[in-house]
Amino acid sequence: MLSAVVFDADETLLDLRPAVTGGLVVVLEEMRRLTPAAADVCLADLESDWGAVFGAHSAEPVAQIRRAALARSLARAGLTDHLDEVAALFFARRFALTRPFADALPALAALRPHYTLGYATNGNSRAERCGLAGEFTFELYAHDGGLPKKPAPEFYAAVVEAAGVPAEQIAYVGDSLAHDVVGPQRAGLRGIWLNRADLPCPPEVRPDAELSTLAELPAALRALPPATAAPARRPA
Ligand SMILES: [Mg+2]
Repeated sequence: MLSAVVFDADETLLDLRPAVTGGLVVVLEEMRRLTPAAADVCLADLESDWGAVFGAHSAEPVAQIRRAALARSLARAGLTDHLDEVAALFFARRFALTRPFADALPALAALRPHYTLGYATNGNSRAERCGLAGEFTFELYAHDGGLPKKPAPEFYAAVVEAAGVPAEQIAYVGDSLAHDVVGPQRAGLRGIWLNRADLPCPPEVRPDAELSTLAELPAALRALPPATAAPARRPA
């Protein structure tokens, strides 16, 4: 029997992209206010700076990666001395704009009477800063207490411990096949793929369920077959 449902944050419950874009727009405006040398810097440059730093340092804390990406962007216009104030501007706007997708709160409300609800993210979208205060029995953030990021097995072990039930009683829901489907399945959880963009699923990956919206989640959970018991070990 399924007893807990655990959610990824960014791009699953939270519509992060417009918030990040909004934060970068403020950064660009501030850069242009500070110096004419920033006139040629554009939003695509700031996005590519994130991509370059993330690509090389993906295991590090997201806030640290963002700060390094902003430092790279500021260097384009000789503004590296302004990193602290510009980073503060970015994070203030990014959190002010980060809100749940329209289908998130209704799905959580529908599930709450039936399951323990958890929130477990690699990122820095603190639930209370993103319109999700009080929605979960537990919240887990990578790097808190040294917790490594998904898809490290330790991350899912921490999810199981926080849920307080065996792994096979937990469904993990998220937009990333690697982090939210394959990783959880390897740890004995169910992996539910939220595929908002209607992407093709590679044949080697078998999500326990695939959704195009969180409105489909309650019925998808009810339709999951019972967990198969681990094969009995033969006595040596
Ligand atoms: Mg995600």
